[in-house]
Amino acid sequence: MLKEDYTTVILDLEGIEVKKAEQDGEELQIYIEMERKSQICPCCGEETQRIHDYRTQRVKDIPLGKKTVLYLRKRRYHCRNCRKHFYEANPFLGRYSSMTKRLIAYILTQFKDLKPASEIAKECNISSSTAFRCFDCISYRCRSLPHVLSIDEFKGNAGGEKYQSILTDPKNRKVLDILPNRYENDLIQYFRSFSTRDNVHYFVTDMNFHFRNVANICFPKAKIVVDKYHVTRQAMWAMENVRKAEQKKLPEPLRKYFKRSKSLLSKSIERLTPDEMNKLSLMFEYSPRLARAYHLKNVFLSVMRSSSSSEGRKKLSGWLFLAEFENLPEFSPCITAYRNWFQEILNSFDVPYANGYTEGCNNKTKVLKRVCFGVRYFDRFRNRILPCST
Ligand SMILES: [Zn+2]
Repeated sequence: MLKEDYTTVILDLEGIEVKKAEQDGEELQIYIEMERKSQICPCCGEETQRIHDYRTQRVKDIPLGKKTVLYLRKRRYHCRNCRKHFYEANPFLGRYSSMTKRLIAYILTQFKDLKPASEIAKECNISSSTAFRCFDCISYRCRSLPHVLSIDEFKGNAGGEKYQSILTDPKNRKVLDILPNRYENDLIQYFRSFSTRDNVHYFVTDMNFHFRNVANICFPKAKIVVDKYHVTRQAMWAMENVRKAEQKKLPEPLRKYFKRSKSLLSKSIERLTPDEMNKLSLMFEYSPRLARAYHLKNVFLSVMRSSSSSEGRKKLSGWLFLAEFENLPEFSPCITAYRNWFQEILNSFDVPYANGYTEGCNNKTKVLKRVCFGVRYFDRFRNRILPCST
């Protein structure tokens, strides 16, 4: 048996007296009572000190090194004025709860870590469904929109929809919300519920037409910035498609060589060793088409290093002219995309905002999904992502 005053210190619950504490196998059992004091009747407001009877309630508490259960001897009072009976006031226990408030708070903080509910449940001596119940009752709400708003989609497979949208504030590195799908009308409806839409000065997105339509309708004053990574990726894909097409034309031994040299083509030109440069020029001798594609990619990378929209305008226009002149069919999708997103690409040269943070959050989401074996229900999925990402 532990010393009583010692247990009181460990428990640190307001206004309780520890009567006895004992260990029963894996469980620490602490018998407690509230300090006796006069009570106010919740029905009529009259003060009373008259005890009607006692009832002992089993209450789970945060683990104190091992599973901890409190046996609370509750007093029921009698009100002389209205003759009703009521339990004494208790600051650490919700009305119909068999867990202390701080255990519930503890469970919620545990959900912040990327671990499955079953593990949290085991540690806290509750069932998984109870852990989820604590968790489902919290609701996160994004209350205002930031100066820079970034949107992206990710494959969440939650609530019967394959794709979900994630909203972040890349400037302050905060996840704002997770939305159940990526449909234009639903996004418009969501954003229209905010009175703070004028706060948004920049809207960062990948090259998704639906997101741009949403921005034009909901944030007409904001500048749309297309994320640089998504822009560059298109030119890299085009070059890679040229390499694949050229590789197919070659005899078998050379094919292998082309495959192995894949990473050399995407490596930045300044970091190539003399040996690597030789390897590349050999490839270009076999395939002049690949040499042209490689050149287009490198010129494009220098376009993306523009330090202002006015510089970028000249460079990007020049590149589009060059790319059309080169007339490589693999490049036509990205030429079209760059024409369609011309102004939004230029906008990206004037600001340091990108989708990198949002993409990072998406990676976290993937880990969470793996750890929790998929999260089927959208609200629960959203509740799990939001605290993990802040
Ligand atoms: Zn009363």
